[in-house]
Amino acid sequence: MQNNATMLPTTILIVEDETSLLTTIAYNLRREGYQVQTATDGEQALAAARQYRPDLILLDIMLPKVDGFEVCRQLRRESTVPIIVVTARSEEIDRVVGLEIGADDYLTKPFSMRELIARVKAMLRRRALLLQEVSAAAPDTERLRAGDLEIDVAAHRVTRAGAEVALKPKEFELLTFLVRNRGHIFSAEQLIERVWGYAYTGDTRTVAVHIRGLREKLEHDPSRPARIETIRGVGYRFVG
Ligand code: CA
Repeated sequence: MQNNATMLPTTILIVEDETSLLTTIAYNLRREGYQVQTATDGEQALAAARQYRPDLILLDIMLPKVDGFEVCRQLRRESTVPIIVVTARSEEIDRVVGLEIGADDYLTKPFSMRELIARVKAMLRRRALLLQEVSAAAPDTERLRAGDLEIDVAAHRVTRAGAEVALKPKEFELLTFLVRNRGHIFSAEQLIERVWGYAYTGDTRTVAVHIRGLREKLEHDPSRPARIETIRGVGYRFVG
């Protein structure tokens, strides 16, 4: 995927089957200067993502034909495009927050256009920074080490005792941030701002879920973490 955030118009693919909402979102994003493509079911979404190679996808979960969970899973196999999933039902939220489907962020319906635009901008900004860091780091790749853990930052690759650990994109960013700042304690609010790139809105489940995911993959005993510590009532810190 090309980083065309600076030179070419940024393209956002909106996947939404409620046409009035789709129209409103498209109108507001166009007004912000984004190029907009739309899809109203899961099959169209996959086809449009492959055809237009958007810079960001806004993906509704409840969709005709192929649902948003499956669209997200399929897209993740072929691209790292930022995906913000849109969910309406509270029972979906835990699955979405767990981001087991590989989404980068989520919004719950109903949401304001202001909130939507703030999230989109934050995500695109993070993405641009990340790509800058990656291109600045290449060809001499940055490697972080902590015990038997090694992080190849440019390659987005983590190994533990030489064996590759499969991390989700946000788990990787969170781990890299914590290891770079090892020893420092960060609250969930600070992690949301620094790693997810948007202002804290009162929901720390995303952070907790990602910390748990990292512990399951990186800790000898995830119930007694020795690498990523929880400081009760304060936050988290990487020590291992
Ligand atoms: Ca829907």
